Amino acid sequence: MVKAGKNYKLTMAANGVREIFNEKLSLTGAEISINELSAGASIPFVHAHKLNEEVYIIIEGKGQIYIDGEEMDIEKGNVFCIDPAGQRCIKAADDSTIRYICVQTLANSLTQFTETDGIIDESIKTSWLP
Ligand code: ZN
Repeated sequence: MVKAGKNYKLTMAANGVREIFNEKLSLTGAEISINELSAGASIPFVHAHKLNEEVYIIIEGKGQIYIDGEEMDIEKGNVFCIDPAGQRCIKAADDSTIRYICVQTLANSLTQFTETDGIIDESIKTSWLP
């Protein structure tokens, strides 16, 4: 943990193979991790989930993803949401490291999103807002 306040926790991502932020940030609604596979490396198994969907956000490099028997090339900028039952595996390309963020949440658990859950307070000013 780098810093914490009444309603936030801040941490730094390490340069690591897999870093899970659940404990560092005391997450209560999602598991969030940053993952890195070096060139040619693969998650060593295909897996699905019991209840959780996963969003994979590719932030660097390229590789392949296997989903339910289909193999697709993936690269920086690709974002996948995989239902719990989807059988999945990720591999880095032979000539490229791949880094991705994985957000795992209970499928169908969110009842509202930013437009209905966000609360704008225009009475509060920051040093950069007029
Ligand atoms: Zn998973």
